[in-house]
Parts: sequence; structure tokens; C-alpha cells
Amino acid sequence: MSITFNIDARKATSIPCPFCKEAVEFGYAEDNGKGGCCDLYCDGTTVDFSDTVNFSNRNAYDILEMLGYDTSNYMGEITDLAAFRRKIMLRLNTNVDSAVREAYHLPSGHAGVEVDMSGDVPRIERKGCAVYSGGSSKSQITRRLNSLDKLAQMAQDANSSILWG
Ligand SMILES: [Zn+2]
Repeated sequence: MSITFNIDARKATSIPCPFCKEAVEFGYAEDNGKGGCCDLYCDGTTVDFSDTVNFSNRNAYDILEMLGYDTSNYMGEITDLAAFRRKIMLRLNTNVDSAVREAYHLPSGHAGVEVDMSGDVPRIERKGCAVYSGGSSKSQITRRLNSLDKLAQMAQDANSSILWG
């Protein structure tokens, strides 16, 4: 599961459709009368999402919560980009410790035991699946903050907000 941050598609830059280009290159292009040739509906352009930012859910929530945003709806829109960038700058120049997490591994069976009496012989079952967490270092958080700031800059240039979810 992951969270993607991107510029509002209606405001993002339009670029030539890469699938149309491929269709021409590989010789299966068929003009659809709408400007495109890769399928029936393509108008020959697509939205440039090349600078979207994607983090795991936990990493995205850690960053957003550190910056004071509500993550309870699992999606949102950041409209005040100046304030967003100020918060990022403040964090980059003070500390990001609240989002630093140690890596850990919980082996399967870590959640206790249960006695299964359903069969002929009682059986002890260990509960809990294996859990792996890669943790989050200070430099990873700094990198994430910088990529969000770059995206915010692009959104400001496109007069857009940032949508995340
Ligand atoms: Zn196309």
C-alpha cells in the first residue's frame, strides 16, 4: 500500500501520448479520428505525472503528521502550498526526529498462543504473522521532505494544489 502525491490532473502539463508514439514505432497505429492512435479514445496527449511522489503509507503518514496534516481520511488536498513549503523548510532546518523509526522484525508467533481443542488432540497454535519494518532514517526523511518541496514548487508553477491518497 502506498500514498501518491501529485499535481491536480486538470492543471498538470499535457504531453504527447507515449503509447501513440509506441504504436507508430511498432506499426500498429490506427488513427481514431480524435487525434490519437493507440486506442479508440486517446486524443494524442496525456498528463505528465513524471514528477509524482510516492511513499509507503506509513512513511507518508509520518511526514504528513509531522507537518501537522490530518491523515484520518487516508487522502487529502494541500491547497496552501506556501504554508506547506514553510513547514517543510522549518522541519529541514530544525529536526525530523518525530518521524525517525528504528527497523524491526517480529517473527511469526509473536502474539501469544491459543489452544485449539477442535481436533482429537488439543493443539497449541502460535498467533501473529511475521512483521517486517524497514524503519526510517533521518536522511530518508530529509530526502522525502525535499521531494515534496520540489513537487510543491511545481504545483505552485502550475497554479494547482497537491492531491494525495
Ligand atoms: Zn495515445
